[in-house]
Formats: sequence, structure tokens, C-alpha cells
Amino acid sequence: MDAGRLVDVGPTAELRRRFRGRRELKLDDHILMPGLINAHTHAAMSCFRGLGNDLPLDRWLTEVIFPAEARHLDGELVYQGSLLAAVEMLENGVTTFCDGYFFEEEAAAAARVSGIRAVLGQGVLDLPAPDLPDPRRARQRVEAFLEGFPRAGGRLRPSLFCHAPHTCRAQTLQWVKELCRGHALLFQIHLSETAGEVARVVREHGERPGLYLERLGLLDALTLCAHGVWLDAAEMAALARHGAGVAHAAESNMKLASGVAPVPSLLAAGVTVALGTDGCASNNDLDLLTEMDMVAKLHKVFHRDPVVCSAPQVLHMATRGGARAIGWEDGIGTLEPGKEADVIAIDVRKPHLTPLYDPISHVVYAASGSDVRYVWVAGDMVVAEGEVQTVSAAAVRAAVESLARRIRRTLLP
Ligand SMILES: [Zn+2]
Repeated sequence: MDAGRLVDVGPTAELRRRFRGRRELKLDDHILMPGLINAHTHAAMSCFRGLGNDLPLDRWLTEVIFPAEARHLDGELVYQGSLLAAVEMLENGVTTFCDGYFFEEEAAAAARVSGIRAVLGQGVLDLPAPDLPDPRRARQRVEAFLEGFPRAGGRLRPSLFCHAPHTCRAQTLQWVKELCRGHALLFQIHLSETAGEVARVVREHGERPGLYLERLGLLDALTLCAHGVWLDAAEMAALARHGAGVAHAAESNMKLASGVAPVPSLLAAGVTVALGTDGCASNNDLDLLTEMDMVAKLHKVFHRDPVVCSAPQVLHMATRGGARAIGWEDGIGTLEPGKEADVIAIDVRKPHLTPLYDPISHVVYAASGSDVRYVWVAGDMVVAEGEVQTVSAAAVRAAVESLARRIRRTLLP
């Protein structure tokens, strides 16, 4: 790697003949692979990790998450929660995350400090939000966000995140997408997470959410739909027609019993599928390696077919598929000369990773985040010997613990 990019990829002996490295790191018995891409999360929600479990989505939201956000969500919580999430993701081999939340400039500040790559979506909805009590001022809010956005040497990209078709008016969805088109930004939206919200969109707009978005002109290659659990064949065809991607969040969908996204059908229809952890509060971790294992097995048992969602397909979703879905395929997602040097090294000198016949099988079915030993983002070594190098992980944890003491006092008996 040189100047943050990969110069070449190949067997050691061959590269040695052609290049003299300024710095060499010997990594026998490691799997070197592209950094993982977490295509859907709400990083700051790591502050709410483990708050409210074993509840249906509507009760979990109205009884736990909304009250917690109403009382405690501010710039400080978003900064500290996002920083904790960035440390967790880096140490687990995630080099890029795609976020959507409130006070998103604070998430950007945290991402910048941690050294992670990120697409940061400022949340928009037609209801009072923690960082915008008056939704009529949404346009000024997002314009200010875009104007002040830190570029951080190209590692950070701004995005806009419309919460969902049932919480944003058609007009809002359209002006946000227009603004995204004008600036070539990723447009994110939650789509068809639960059967209840699909029924509501059908009731209010006379068509299913995927077709509603198509009619409003919102679908293109820079539109990323999170979840897509209840998409039918016509909606999948619409997404495929316009090149819009789906961020599949299997663990969150399982924990909230939202349903099983039709991933084999999405792939067959030609839709780009990425993987996302969703927020920590509904997962409850940001480990994309264990997420891959669950994705592969969930669809096999659901379809009673061990052939669906093969290990290479799932690995593709967590790397190249993720890169395409967030509009960054030209820079990340694979190890190729000229691409960003976002690389992770998984240590296989472990009982649960021995013997090694097939590295892809190990990555998907046997490894977890704690097996990641080195991580580079744009050529910078941000994790060494399993520990993040850019910030003090102990200080980040202490800051979140102190916020959690406040949350505990008001929300727990
Ligand atoms: Zn989400």
C-alpha cells in the first residue's frame, strides 16, 4: 500500500521481486481480506445497548427507545455513542459504516477521530426529532449539516436518511431525494421492516411501499433501503430496475421478530444486497463476522435449503455488495490495485479456526470479531494486536458508562 491505496495484491514472493516495502509486517497464519462494510446502523444507539429486550418492535420503540431518546439524546450522547461504536466496529474488522441518526455532525466528528470510513446520514422525518423540534425547519437543518460536513481526507461522506415512508410525507421524501441527487449523495430509508408498516402505507397511499417509492421517483443506484423484510416480487423488480440496494439486518429482524427478508429472491432479481447490524439496541452488538454466520444459517433454515445464501454470497454482501449499495464500489469492497487500502487480518492460530481448508468458510461460519488482529483504513493501521490505536478505548468506555449512569437513573427501576 502507498498513499492510502493498494499498489498491488499477490503472493509474497512475487511482490518482493517487484517492490521494496518501506515497512513489512509478517502475518503468517492470517487471512487477509477487504475490510467489512456495515451498511445499516445507528452508531450512537450503542449507548442504549441492552435496554429493553424481548419486546415487540412497537412496544420496544414506544416504551423504551423513544423515552430514552426524548430524555437523553443530545450531541454529547451521539458523539460518545458513535465513538464507542466506531471502536467496536474497527476492532471487529468493520472499516466502513453507513449511519443514519440525529445530531449526525457529532457522529461525523466521532468517525473522524476514530479513523474509520463512514457514510453519515442526517435523519429527516415529519415529526419532532431530538435535534429538530420543528420538522418544518428540516431543509435548513440538512443544509447546515451538509455545509459544515468535515471531509476528513475523503474518508467521510455525508448522506441524508429519511426515516421511513410512513413517517415522512411524499413531499419530504421528494425534496430530500432531489437534494441528494444534486450533491450525488446516498439517500437512505427504512423500507418494509414490519408487516404493520406495509399495511399502513397500503392504506394511506393505495400501494405497497416499494412501488410507492418508485412512483415518487426515489429509486436509483444511490438509494439504499434498510430491511426490505416484506418486499414482494413486484417491489423487488422495481428495486432491481432502478439499481437501488437493500441493507439486510438479519439479527435485528430476528430479535424484534420483524420477519425474514427475501434475500435469495432479492439476489435472484438482481438487487444488490448489503449487510447491516442495525443499531446496537436491537442486535445487541456490531460484529459483522457473527452476523454473516447468522445470515447464512437463517435463510437456510427458513427455506429448508442448505444451498441458499452460500458462504461466498454472504461474504460478498459484507464487502463488495456493501460497497456497491452505499455507492462506493469504485474505492472499497475488494482488494485490488488502485483501491483504498482498507484491509483486515484475521488470526487463524485458534482452536476454533483449525484446521483451515477453506478461508471463506472460516470467515463466514467460524470466525468472530475478536479474531481480527490488524485493521488498516486508507493504509493507516488503526487496529494492532486486536486493539484500536487511534483513541483510548478505556476513555471511550468510561465516557459512555458515565452517560449510562444518567440513563439508568431515569429509565430503570
Ligand atoms: Zn435502522
